Amino acid sequence: MRSLSPRLLDIPRCVELIQDLNFAEVARWKAEHPGGKAIAYFPVYAPVEIIHACGMLPVGLNGAGDRLDIQHADARFGSFICSIIKTTLEMAITGRLDWMDGMFFSTICDSARNLCFVSKRNFPEKYWDFIHLPQNAGSPAAVDFLEQEYRRILLQLESLAGRKADDDALRGAIRLYNHNRELLRDLYALRERHPERLRTWELYSLLRAGCFLPVETHNAGLEAALAELRAGAAKPRDSIRILIEGSFCEQPPLDLIRLIEEAGCYIVDDDFILGRRWFTQDVPSEGDPIRALAESYLNRSVYSSVRHDPRHPRPRALVEKARSRRADAVLFLIAKFCEPAYFDYVLFKQAVEAAGIPHLLLEFEEKAFTFERSRTEVETFVESLLFD
Ligand code: SF4
Repeated sequence: MRSLSPRLLDIPRCVELIQDLNFAEVARWKAEHPGGKAIAYFPVYAPVEIIHACGMLPVGLNGAGDRLDIQHADARFGSFICSIIKTTLEMAITGRLDWMDGMFFSTICDSARNLCFVSKRNFPEKYWDFIHLPQNAGSPAAVDFLEQEYRRILLQLESLAGRKADDDALRGAIRLYNHNRELLRDLYALRERHPERLRTWELYSLLRAGCFLPVETHNAGLEAALAELRAGAAKPRDSIRILIEGSFCEQPPLDLIRLIEEAGCYIVDDDFILGRRWFTQDVPSEGDPIRALAESYLNRSVYSSVRHDPRHPRPRALVEKARSRRADAVLFLIAKFCEPAYFDYVLFKQAVEAAGIPHLLLEFEEKAFTFERSRTEVETFVESLLFD
């Protein structure tokens, strides 16, 4: 396994972090910050800057992969529900989230909404909150509404932290996360230009490791990785360029991402861990920071299946993205039972077909560990494009 900057954030270390269901890194942070609080958030997006400005550690939870047997959560949810809902609850029930002082959910789907309130009932001693993100980004009331919602959250977190987060603290947090997103944008751009140099499973590991690390540490690791990758070189492979769509919440297994690449694909863009890359430009770090965060959520952001924005139709945005990345095809990689992704799949499929872009649908579950059928499907798809 190739390593990047062994002392800072090498790939094996990132993989270890994302597979660690004991959350040792969070425990370490809490030990180094006596009285410090860790606030988890469920995908897709949460305003991590507000958590950071209150002196707390934001922790992105993206399920438990194949490392946890579901023994208790099934009794609290029906069968036809995505895996991330169950593994998140199972982690809480089995004590793996005991380090957590609170957790945010948001308006992404009915399942996430229900998980928030099921969790609240099962663990009343913890702080659970539901962020009402505007569902219609085109409404003239949306920015004011979200600003008020963020002010409510800020008050809740200040009360939990026992300290105030002033505007300077918020602006400082915005600058740190702006830098984080800028580094991630640079890594994504490098992967798009030189997919032979940075494989997507490696980029994904670097990205997701940031869900468990203080942003300052993550930034230092990404800076080193970027410098090393910019100076590097690698032999091109005989691969088609594909764009992945549909993995914005539950995450595909790392081995499935590897398999897609080994089957002959350069992944030139994706929507993995989308919330950490939500903003397409820096959030303004001057002026009112809460207003800037609310405005940026709506007006400086990516398109997403969990937000309706009549100003930027999602099918058109997908086609534009595929063209700008010079993608040969779109791979819809969708979690089983993910309603927002499947609703959009119908619209996306029509749009890419109208644009003449080949596509393939693969369904996954985060807990899957064998992928022979997926391998055959991807290899057949790649061959049909390479030898057409
Ligand atoms: S994977 Fe889809 S259905 Fe499941 S919680 Fe996430 S958005 Fe909702």
